[in-house]
Amino acid sequence: DLDRPAPDRPALPLRPEIVGLEPYGAPQLDVPYRLNVNENPYPPSEAVVADVAAAVTEATRGLNRYPDRDFLALREDLAAYLLVESGVRLAPEQLWAANGSNEVMLHLLQAFGGPGRTALSFAPTYSMYPEYARDTSTGWVLGRREEDFSLDPDEARATIRRHAPSVVLLASPNNPTGTALPASTVLAVLDEAARIPGGCVVVVDEAYGEFRRRGTPSALELLADHPHLAVSRTMSKAFGLAGARVGYLAAAPALVDALRVVRLPYHLSGVTQAVARAALAHSGELMAQVGALREERDALVGWLRERGLQVADSDANFVLFGTFDDRSALWQGLLERGVLIREVGPPGWLRVSVGTPHETQAFKDALVEVAGL
Ligand code: PMP
Repeated sequence: DLDRPAPDRPALPLRPEIVGLEPYGAPQLDVPYRLNVNENPYPPSEAVVADVAAAVTEATRGLNRYPDRDFLALREDLAAYLLVESGVRLAPEQLWAANGSNEVMLHLLQAFGGPGRTALSFAPTYSMYPEYARDTSTGWVLGRREEDFSLDPDEARATIRRHAPSVVLLASPNNPTGTALPASTVLAVLDEAARIPGGCVVVVDEAYGEFRRRGTPSALELLADHPHLAVSRTMSKAFGLAGARVGYLAAAPALVDALRVVRLPYHLSGVTQAVARAALAHSGELMAQVGALREERDALVGWLRERGLQVADSDANFVLFGTFDDRSALWQGLLERGVLIREVGPPGWLRVSVGTPHETQAFKDALVEVAGL
């Protein structure tokens, strides 16, 4: 009733582009097996819990003051982590962080998008991208990926030429497909973007970068030669810190400087900075866990293929599989057995996050029953 406009209750002046829209988000259901939002199934170890708690205690003593606006210590720790993780040496001025990589990418659109400009990506891909565009009044264009979810470099170049975007968003590994782009495709996009007269920033979203298979490169390796490249990462997946909301990116110092202009002052709380730094100090232990998840993922891909299903190659901590005539019925059947996965991707496909061995087994058992495999 309160939602209904009445003469004494004028309608709210909603921006026309958000009238009638629902907030983005997967169902948050309390079920035994939650494999729907690509979280890390392992909670922080007791050692991480103790160090994070101690760091938060210390940070709390200074909460009467605003935090370090430029989070220099965190930038140094992130640079040290990326050197170990991908062998790429970066200066702290090349790092940026925010409350989840969602906010990092919103900052990118705030700085490089805007009215009269266009952001471009290739479907199927992460469904938040059009929301960053909408919320910054940036135009939105979706090119297409091939049947196997790869991106044809010539097709990508032609789409970029046609629309002359100021931002290109490339998720690699991509969500919801799990597929990663070869360096040659990213290089083709970077080259075409560099030809756009007004300039164009290419964002490679590596939210799932740590899960990439051996031999799959990181776009971090391309940063040195490409001042219009930004590589986005997150602590939500590999670090198992989705609840802490820490995302970051690496780029040339001039690109990072532009993001400093659009961020809200003190956007990264002192508590967030302390949590992130304490967790980064445990990256060795956490990366061992990523290795276990990768193996679990490869085994799950194999298991699904052995049962005759189509499975997209996965460099991520989730697997897209199909195809089913009635994927909604299958999704519902799994849910009734306590297994929550995601109904997302092209028609007929479903996505499941890689869980603990116990969770994966529950998923397999339920799938065998419901799909009659
Ligand atoms: N990019 C991709 C491709 C994602 O799948 C996600 C999370 N689902 C994000 C970015 C954002 O994650 P966060 O804000 O937690 O860093």
